[in-house]
Amino acid sequence: MAFKGVDYFAVDSLLTEEELLVRQTARRFAGERALPLIRDCYRDARFPRELVPEMAELGFLGANLEGYGCAAMSNVEYGLIMQELERADSGLRSFVSVQGALVMYPILTYGSEEQKQKWLPALQSGRAVGCFGLTEPDFGSNPAGMRTTARQEGGGWVLNGEKTWITNGTAADVALVWARAEGGIRGFLVENGTAGFTTADIHGKWSMRASVTSSLSLADCRVPDSARLPEAKGLKAPLSCLTQARFGIGWGVLGAAMDCYETAREYSTLRKQFDGRPIASHQLVQEKLAWMITEITKAQLLAVHAGRLKDQGKLEPAHVSMLKRNNVAMALECARLSRDLLGANGITDEYPIMRHLCNLETVKTYEGTDHIHALVIGERVTGVAAYK
Ligand SMILES: Cc1cc2nc3c(=O)[nH]c(=O)nc-3n(C[C@H](O)[C@H](O)[C@H](O)COP(=O)(O)OP(=O)(O)OC[C@H]3O[C@@H](n4cnc5c(N)ncnc54)[C@H](O)[C@@H]3O)c2cc1C
Repeated sequence: MAFKGVDYFAVDSLLTEEELLVRQTARRFAGERALPLIRDCYRDARFPRELVPEMAELGFLGANLEGYGCAAMSNVEYGLIMQELERADSGLRSFVSVQGALVMYPILTYGSEEQKQKWLPALQSGRAVGCFGLTEPDFGSNPAGMRTTARQEGGGWVLNGEKTWITNGTAADVALVWARAEGGIRGFLVENGTAGFTTADIHGKWSMRASVTSSLSLADCRVPDSARLPEAKGLKAPLSCLTQARFGIGWGVLGAAMDCYETAREYSTLRKQFDGRPIASHQLVQEKLAWMITEITKAQLLAVHAGRLKDQGKLEPAHVSMLKRNNVAMALECARLSRDLLGANGITDEYPIMRHLCNLETVKTYEGTDHIHALVIGERVTGVAAYK
């Protein structure tokens, strides 16, 4: 049955006709194209790459960017796409987040005209895939400590270091690698096949199984100066990309939460225990459903407000921290409650709940952990940075 959406509080009345149309397109894609594949992909630890051309065709890649073939959608439209994709699977949304917010956005914002011409149309159309290499084995929450280096030699650069937990790593045609140079942190577009650059998949994941996660290795990897993003100077450049991606996550997890809520709501009306009564008739069950729909509604309002502020150029990183942290925690709790309400059935992949639950554990960690975003909010309200 087609997904009808979750709208307890007429949140749809805040959306324009155009936004509703974009959501409908993404919803149909998720329902008809992604959901029929995703359980097997998750079982087989396979990213459904065959969906990429269709997502590109629908304008989902770099959807809120302008020029070079991008769809120039509003940020609310972009958010609604993320929501519908993550209703199918966080891995699918992660692919689109990385491609758009972490690879296309920095090329558009910090790249040379030549880099934009070369990569943006290819990335938008899905002919090329990108990845974003910031995290290192010893530096996750604190990327400022990164050890990967970029040394100037001749007219170019020599890169050395290791990156890990990189979404799309082995699938990428181009890796945006962040490295420490003499003048500070710089970003380099390293093409697959460059001598000294190798990638390997990370196996054994119980989360994000329908997404490629890899390590990148750079051993005396030489790239020309034209591979450097000329306008990316210092850590604020990669952090600005993360702000874009975190905005998409704040929307995306709404989709996972809605799927968990709707599955539990429907299940509780059908499943009977004690005198043939549906479990929905028990007060403790209703309390859980009431918590879920209330928190989803609050998170929807936060996301719409964030989208409107972003469209007006008024959304700040500390706002995005609250959006990401609140909405991910809300979705994870919805997944846990839904799993509980489904009883034993909740642990099987006949239902999407355990898949969402496992995925959301990653979403809580990547793009700034729950703790780190609490510290961003804490710094904002006290003026005191407490990271160290
Ligand atoms: C599936 C997946 C995909 C990913 N994709 C990418 C990608 O595409 N590109 C990329 O660059 N990275 C990616 N990451 C990496 C991700 O961004 C990091 O895992 C994340 O930043 C956390 O770093 P860490 O795992 O090293 O944890 P750590 O930084 O070691 O943190 C461990 C724990 O310590 C806590 N902690 C650390 N410092 C503090 C502090 N100051 N105060 C309070 N608590 C603290 C954390 O909150 C956390 O609970 C991905 C990760 C996963 C799991």
